[in-house]
Amino acid sequence: MKKNKSKTLRLILGDQLNYNHSWFETVDDSITYVMMEIRTETDYATHHIQKIVGFFAAMRQFQNWLQLKKHRVIYLKLTDTTNLQSFEKNIEIIINSENFERFEYQLPDEYRVDMILKNFSARLLISNTVVDTEHFFSTRNELADFFEGKKSFLMESFYRAMRKKHHILMEGDSPITGQWNYDDDNRKKLPKNHKPTPPLVFNSDVTDIANEIAQTNIKTIGTIDAENFIWPINREQSLELVSFFVAECLPLFGSYQDAMAPQEWSIYHSRVSFSLNTKMISPLEVISMAIEAWQKKPDVIQYNQLEGFVRQIIGWREYMRGIYWLKMPEYSSLNYFNHQEKLPDWFWTGKTKMHCLKDTINQSLTFAYAHHIQRLMITGNFALLAGIHPDEVDAWYLGIYIDALDWVEVTNTRGMSQFADGGIVGTKPYVSSAAYIDKMSHYCGSCFYNKAKKVGDKACPFNSLYWNFYDKQEDKLAKNPRIGMMYSVWRKMKPEDKEALLQQADYYLKHINEL
Ligand SMILES: Cc1cc2nc3c(=O)[nH]c(=O)nc-3n(C[C@H](O)[C@H](O)[C@H](O)COP(=O)(O)OP(=O)(O)OC[C@H]3O[C@@H](n4cnc5c(N)ncnc54)[C@H](O)[C@@H]3O)c2cc1C
Ligand code: SF4
Repeated sequence: MKKNKSKTLRLILGDQLNYNHSWFETVDDSITYVMMEIRTETDYATHHIQKIVGFFAAMRQFQNWLQLKKHRVIYLKLTDTTNLQSFEKNIEIIINSENFERFEYQLPDEYRVDMILKNFSARLLISNTVVDTEHFFSTRNELADFFEGKKSFLMESFYRAMRKKHHILMEGDSPITGQWNYDDDNRKKLPKNHKPTPPLVFNSDVTDIANEIAQTNIKTIGTIDAENFIWPINREQSLELVSFFVAECLPLFGSYQDAMAPQEWSIYHSRVSFSLNTKMISPLEVISMAIEAWQKKPDVIQYNQLEGFVRQIIGWREYMRGIYWLKMPEYSSLNYFNHQEKLPDWFWTGKTKMHCLKDTINQSLTFAYAHHIQRLMITGNFALLAGIHPDEVDAWYLGIYIDALDWVEVTNTRGMSQFADGGIVGTKPYVSSAAYIDKMSHYCGSCFYNKAKKVGDKACPFNSLYWNFYDKQEDKLAKNPRIGMMYSVWRKMKPEDKEALLQQADYYLKHINEL
């Protein structure tokens, strides 16, 4: 006799659009999936309009795919009158009104949502369970186990362990080329007249979603061309983007990974973070496609380009997730330097005379994207030198980027970029004067400020702020073996030169909104 199955409700979050999840292998009438666009998610930060639209568009595409496959789906749109705008309230009503006997969900990647669903499930009177998202290479606690008993958490060690465990670019227990990391080959400036390959963008019409959002009072930043939405919103487009990347960008990815140029908003970067973070594609698929492309054309794609890319995904991305689950919830309130300042207003408008910041912020407002080195060495660098409170910095990064989800945003912003964790993620703060920015970019030549000047009229603000930062943080940084040399330079400077630098920095900080 056929046993009756429990009537089950399964929740799919907006960043759980894994088309290959085992949940969807068989169609079962006793199972209903629920997806929802809710205000708690649109309002926990001031998001870029493209971020909200992108998530909703990708969710709606996923819902269509589920329905085509004949799965049962309940989808609550943002403006549906029955939508109670919270996970718990919506799920509770659905369970009660349709007599579900079981509730299932996938492990959330955000601590905040994890807590909501854990507490909610604990209160539920029906049976419930949580399953893996089947997306990452490592489990939530794998990094914690790997570093157990250790004082430092070196990304490189975790990366090597991941390569070994998953047999990626390995021959037995050794890297196939005998060398693990090719970072030293990957720090070139773009040649003066070099024009990077134009990025592949899509042109999906998402005006219906943009209009629905416009009907609400949701506060957003940035702009959108809703008739030609540039980001991938389904698996097909996501895979197309990866194919484009491996063919057109991977051959120069590593070389120009740290390069910056005015108006060039993505250089040779992949822009796959949104597709990855929503799980429309998996990290294994992405690196497999890159490795296959290298195997087919080793003369076109040098190994250092490939290794640099693989490291970002199985190294940095998995590592940041592991740190997040090891250190949350404390991590999101760390403030090692006790910085207290507000972000300057121009972070929200791009209206500054500093060319590097103007370009990076404007492209962020236009595309909801900046590549890693712009996030780290332009906006992040400035915020750290200016002593901005990490909460302010986090809120900005969490809102403005299409790929920003707490687990990968807070570890990168508070950890890598602001050193607010005191050195868990990074071994030293990522700060620089104009010299580094000029070395890696073409911004300085056409800037209002003079990159070579430290004090006086039109002196580049990065120069005095840089020394001011080291001076103010001497007690916290002077013993750091990676920074000792900077302090010996600082100590050897003439007192009057030091004083002039500190006064210049003080002036700039007092007039930060006018820079
Ligand atoms: C201050 C700051 C904030 C950041 N916030 C986010 C964020 O909210 N979401 C996010 O996904 N990434 C974040 N990053 C990491 C990185 O900048 C982005 O992943 C990357 O710029 C996305 O663009 P891409 O896909 O073109 O990346 P590529 O340069 O093409 O790299 C390929 C992939 O590697 C992964 N990756 C590379 N670097 C990192 C890293 N440091 N941490 C985690 N994954 C990495 C990403 O999945 C990325 O898609 C942040 C970095 C900094 C310095
Ligand atoms: S001179 Fe200074 S502010 Fe201007 S682009 Fe260079 S680093 Fe940025």
